[in-house]
Amino acid sequence: MHQPPADPVRRAALASIVAAAVLPAVGCGSTSRRRYASDAPSPRWPDLPTSGYTPVAPRTAPDLSRQPAIAASFKRRADWASTAPIPRRMDKMLPVRRLTVHHDGMPPVDLRGPREVAERIDLIRRAHQSRGWGDIGYHYVVDPFGTVWEGRPLSWQGAHVAGNNEGNLGVMVLGNFQQQHPTSAQLDALDRFVAAQVNGRRLNVKNVYTHQEFAPTECPGRSLQAHMTRTRKPTGRLAVLATGHSLG
Ligand SMILES: [Zn+2]
Repeated sequence: MHQPPADPVRRAALASIVAAAVLPAVGCGSTSRRRYASDAPSPRWPDLPTSGYTPVAPRTAPDLSRQPAIAASFKRRADWASTAPIPRRMDKMLPVRRLTVHHDGMPPVDLRGPREVAERIDLIRRAHQSRGWGDIGYHYVVDPFGTVWEGRPLSWQGAHVAGNNEGNLGVMVLGNFQQQHPTSAQLDALDRFVAAQVNGRRLNVKNVYTHQEFAPTECPGRSLQAHMTRTRKPTGRLAVLATGHSLG
């Protein structure tokens, strides 16, 4: 059975179910075919690690030192969020060892500029918090104009792949790519941003996943999945950028 993303907040599960009954399905964990009740936090959700670990110093911004094109189009959480995260509902982020790409999976809309993008991200944040989560589930959002937006601060573990959120950066591309295609600006920004993460965090392209590679879901939609398959191949754009020698 598909397990949608969920924050490890069991006590909020009931409130989440109740709230979900009156809220629209929003975010890649939701599709019109699934019932919201199943989006409640899993009873098998792992607790915080019992063994000692040292949370990495949070990076609230990606390593953009070699990516001026991205740096010029990066927005902070404060640029869109109408409320703060709720820390007690979240776990500390563990060292990043993987990254997962999503779409929003909602009915497609025509976003005409940054103000509408900001409203859209805040809508997703509101829906995710209404499930009892601490904040929007994703760490970054890529809009159709190629701007990367900070989502959940990196000091907190994301809520985007049930059972696999530990050390997993969540990158959501705005749109429904089961029904539409990402813009070229969006794909360009995504490839560059993910490559910067791979390079800056000493990851490998093999550490870059899509949601459906963890769980049976349409996310990130067929056209974005096709792009991810292409771009991760040895001659693909992400793989080339991720060598760190072909930037710009
Ligand atoms: Zn997803």
